[in-house]
Amino acid sequence: MATMESLIGLVNRIQRACTVLGDHGGEGSLWEALPTVAVVGGQSSGKSSVLESVVGRDFLPRGSGIVTRRPLVLQLHKTDDGQAEYAEFLHAPRKKFSDFASVRKEISDETERITGKTKHISNIPIHLSIFSPNVVNLTLIDLPGLTKVAVEGQPDSIVEDIENMVRSYVEKPNCIILAISPANQDIATSDAIKLAKEVDPSGDRTFGVLTKLDLMDKGTNALDVIEGRSYRLQHPWVGIVNRSQADINKNVDMIAARRKEVEYFETSPEYSHMAHKMGSEYLAKLLSQHLELVIRQRIPSIIALINKTIDELNAELDRLGRPIGSDGGAQLYTILDMCRAFDRVFREHLEGGRPGGDRIYGVFDNQLPAALKKLPFDRHLSLQNVRKVVSEADGYQPHLIAPEQGYKRLIDSSLGYFKGPAEASVDAVHLVLKDLVRKSIGETQELKRFPSLQADIAAAAGEALERFREDSKKTVLRLVDMESSYLTVEFFRKLPTEPEKTPNSTASNMDRYSENHFRRIGSNVSAYVGMVCDTLKNSIPKAVVYCQVREAKRSLLNHFYALLGRKEKQQLGAMLDEDPGLMEKREGLAKKLELYKKARDEIDSVGWK
Ligand code: GDP
Ligand code: MG
Repeated sequence: MATMESLIGLVNRIQRACTVLGDHGGEGSLWEALPTVAVVGGQSSGKSSVLESVVGRDFLPRGSGIVTRRPLVLQLHKTDDGQAEYAEFLHAPRKKFSDFASVRKEISDETERITGKTKHISNIPIHLSIFSPNVVNLTLIDLPGLTKVAVEGQPDSIVEDIENMVRSYVEKPNCIILAISPANQDIATSDAIKLAKEVDPSGDRTFGVLTKLDLMDKGTNALDVIEGRSYRLQHPWVGIVNRSQADINKNVDMIAARRKEVEYFETSPEYSHMAHKMGSEYLAKLLSQHLELVIRQRIPSIIALINKTIDELNAELDRLGRPIGSDGGAQLYTILDMCRAFDRVFREHLEGGRPGGDRIYGVFDNQLPAALKKLPFDRHLSLQNVRKVVSEADGYQPHLIAPEQGYKRLIDSSLGYFKGPAEASVDAVHLVLKDLVRKSIGETQELKRFPSLQADIAAAAGEALERFREDSKKTVLRLVDMESSYLTVEFFRKLPTEPEKTPNSTASNMDRYSENHFRRIGSNVSAYVGMVCDTLKNSIPKAVVYCQVREAKRSLLNHFYALLGRKEKQQLGAMLDEDPGLMEKREGLAKKLELYKKARDEIDSVGWK
């Protein structure tokens, strides 16, 4: 069974992973559910010094004036004994700092990178992790000190800006507040206590720390504060003696400083009776204990949050598509799967469920009849033209009974007009199908991640549609040709015979006779053409559906499948090259998922109940 210590370590690891994955909080995030410790106090009250003593290492820029100008999120990770100590910044992930003087310099440099060499502040945090066998597992946040007035070079709003920034950290319920007050000032004037009281009125998560006990005026002591008589907190006050500026200048190291602090309390006439409850080491222990308690209380809600997050991550990963195996078989399988998904969407467009198929019917129901109606038969079968065509067909010997050749020529030339609308129907349906392919590719969720495959499928489908169009054109033109290759005999047999010639045939009567005769021929041809038109109006759609729509539904990607079978693993891989952005996103999500799952397993194994 894991110890509580390892559980704090686990929480710490989760926190660290959250940071690396870019989760620094926000409503409902795991980060918000995990405790952090923020150091709050007036400028030069000793915040950075306290933080360092708790950590047991010198690494923070310290001094007078506004030194801490960006929040520093400090994560301490306890490593196994004997391991070398090192620090790492989130902004320079591959660089390991083993020398803490250079850590201090990097903090200053990184502060200046954002704020310049000014006295301005920025609320963009610096993330620092320290890995050491000599630290406790903790996440601490060092914040700029609260001030009362803007000094030269600072905007007037700085006082408020700092307060707001600090408040944004300490108002979060997961934040444990280390409220630092210097003992050489009246506690009633403590900025730290003022703010802590505001955001944590019950004092549940506030730890009062009194620094600079060594700097109090001779003859005064801080017992009233430390023993809770001046200002009562839920948790005991802890007195601290940090290194003075003189110590820092003399490079007094941390170990010597701690020894000096212990000595101070043990030999002090005022505090020796409570020496074991004073000092940095005790504060670190106190914090660690409190953290344990908080984590224990939070575990059920942390687990609930982890489970919820795992569900969300799984759903998101499903939406993005899972990673693909790298062997050829898996790749081929994935490609075929994508093709099928696309085909499903495309078919839904044709068969209903998704819009678009109705536009094909629109071609047959509107476009084709309208085009047929517009054919210039009136002109073609005008009296003049009929006379002209029939006479030319007759040649030197005019027909005696019926102009067989004239009829044939008139009908043939009329039927030729049908080719235009027939071809236009094919093209119109082709355009609809092409558009539906484009739409279907866009709508196939699974394909979203593979731009290359999208293009390949689009090209393959485009080629197939082109082939279907050719075939369909041939077929509809053949339908028209068939109509002129053999005429419907019955139609002509059923035609009424011409009226008897009038006996007194004068010249003008003769003219009228011939005019009527040609008009009758014209109207007969027109009736025949009308009959053929009705037939084609029905048969063209049948041919178009047969050759284009049905084939698109049945075998749009058949050629593509055949090609795929002959492709090498490498070519298949190239078809599956994903959008790099998506790939990165999935990797991030997968990492997060792995982390959360591991966290859940570890928490489960702790047996925390
Ligand atoms: P911050 O501005 O709140 O982070 O304060 P620092 O930790 O930078 O400390 C400000 C100055 O006060 C430094 O020169 C420290 O050496 C000094 N200082 C902090 N705590 C103590 C203390 O307990 N005793 C003494 N003598 N000096 C201290
Ligand atoms: Mg500081």
